[in-house]
Amino acid sequence: MQVKVERDRCCSSGQCVMTAPGVFEQDERDGLVTVRRPAVPAALSEDVRLAADLCPGGAIAVTEDDAPGTTV
Ligand code: SF4
Repeated sequence: MQVKVERDRCCSSGQCVMTAPGVFEQDERDGLVTVRRPAVPAALSEDVRLAADLCPGGAIAVTEDDAPGTTV
């Protein structure tokens, strides 16, 4: 799984950091999300899917490794 964020859609709610702290963090300067691990380990994939579902800004995009057009 790969994860990307659109920082211009982030409203700094912090839900992703609480849901998947191993993958997301908030920039100390502006509170906006940053991705610590764009290539998500399998053990964290469910947490990242949940974070994407919960994100109020729709800022988190997840691509499954077996999706068409992606490289495994
Ligand atoms: S949950 Fe969404 S809006 Fe909130 S900090 Fe994370 S990316 Fe930003």
